[in-house]
Amino acid sequence: MKVFGYGTKSKENDLSTVTFERREPRRGEVAIKVTHCGVCHSDLHQVKNDWSNTIYPCVPGHEVVGVISAVGEGVSTLSEGDIVGVGCMINSCQECESCENNEENYCTGPKSCTLTYNGPKKPDGSNTYGGYSTELVVREEFVLKVPSKLEPKYVGPLMCAGITVYSPMKHWNLKKGQHLGVAGIGGLGHMAIKFGKVMGAEVTAFTRSEDKRDEILEMGADKVVISEDDEQMNECAKSLDMLINTIPVPHDISPYIDLMKTDSILVVVGNMVKFPEFSPGPLIFNRITLAGSLIGGIKETGEVLDLAAEHNIKPLIKIVDISEINDVLEKLKTGEDGCFRFVIDMQSLHNLSDGTKDGAMKIDAPDRGDVVA
Ligand code: NDP
Repeated sequence: MKVFGYGTKSKENDLSTVTFERREPRRGEVAIKVTHCGVCHSDLHQVKNDWSNTIYPCVPGHEVVGVISAVGEGVSTLSEGDIVGVGCMINSCQECESCENNEENYCTGPKSCTLTYNGPKKPDGSNTYGGYSTELVVREEFVLKVPSKLEPKYVGPLMCAGITVYSPMKHWNLKKGQHLGVAGIGGLGHMAIKFGKVMGAEVTAFTRSEDKRDEILEMGADKVVISEDDEQMNECAKSLDMLINTIPVPHDISPYIDLMKTDSILVVVGNMVKFPEFSPGPLIFNRITLAGSLIGGIKETGEVLDLAAEHNIKPLIKIVDISEINDVLEKLKTGEDGCFRFVIDMQSLHNLSDGTKDGAMKIDAPDRGDVVA
C-alpha cells in the first residue's frame, strides 16, 4: 500500500511530506489507519541523531492510535474497525526469556525487539517508519485494543509516556504512602505524577518552571519544588523513596541523589545521552540504587490502558496539525512549550495526502522492519 507520512532525510532538514510503500498485512498482522500520534521527546532525539543511531530517512512516531483497516490471515484478537494503540515496538523474537516473561522491551533474541520507527535491529538492517504516517502495519501481538471508556485522542501518550513511568513504579514496588519524586514535568513527568497518585504515593514534582506550578498541583502533585532553587531542594533532602528522572538533557545528577533516603531508588528514564561526572559517595553511604528503565512490555501497557480507564487518567494534551510538527519539535528542545504533550490529529495528514502526494519525497528504502520474520 502507498503510505503518506512526515519524515526527514537528515538531521539538518525539517520534517516534510514523504511517501513510501508498506506491505499489505501478512499472516498475523493488521493494517491501521492512524488517527492520532503523540509527540515524544524521543522523536526529537531521533530526528536530530542525538543517540548517533538514526537511520535516514526517518519517519518518527510511537504514540500511535488508529482504526484497524485490514486484518491478515490468522489474526484472532482484532477486527476491522477496532480502535487500537501501538507504542514503541512492533515486533520481537517472542522466544527469549524476556519475551516469555512479557517483557518484549528487553527482548534478547537474535532479532531483538523491533522499534516502531528507526528499528533496524533486523539482521538485514532494514528500517521501520513510524506513526507520523497515514497507515501502519503491525504484528497482532503488539497492538492493544483501546478500552471503550478512553477517548482515542488521549491514548497515544499512554502508549509510551504512561507505560515508561508506570513500569518502574511497578517493578520496584512503589508502595502506598511512600514518597515519589518526579524530575522534569513534561510528557513523561506529568504521567508519572498521575500514575504515582493512583498507586497511593505522596508525589513531589521537581520542575524548572514556576509557570507550571498551578497545573502541576491540579494534576494531583502534593508539592512542587523549583529544581533550580537550592534552598527548596535542600528542604527536600533525604525525603524520597523513589525518584523518576525524565530530564532529556545532560545535567548534574548530584542534587537529585541528595533527595534520596537510605535504601531508595533513583530511576533514570530520560535518555539524555550522558551524565556529567558525579561522585558516587552519596549513593554508597546511603545504599541508594541508581537504575534505568525502558518503556514496558505489551501486557503491562495493557494494564496502563485499563488503569487509565478505571481511574479516568487523561494526559494533558494539545492537539496540533501535522504541518505544525517542526514548530512543536523546536519547542520541545527548550522544554518551554506551554504544554505537557502535543498530539497530532492525523486527519490533517490524511487531508494533505489527498492533494499533494505527488510532491512528497519518495522513500525507496524497503520498509521491512514490521515483517514477521
Ligand atoms: P518532554 O520534552 O515532554 O519533557 C521533558 C521535561 O524535562 C521538560 O518539560 C522540562 O520540565 C524538563 N527539562 C529540564 N531541563 C530541560 C532542558 N534543558 N530542555 C528541555 N527540557 C528540560 O520530554 P518527554 O517527557 O517526552 O521525554 C523525556 C525523556 O525521556 C527524553 O529523553 C526521552 O527520550 C526519554 N524517554 C525515555 C523512555 C524510556 O523508555 N526510558 C521512553 C520515552 C521517552 P520542567 O519544565 O518541569 O523542568
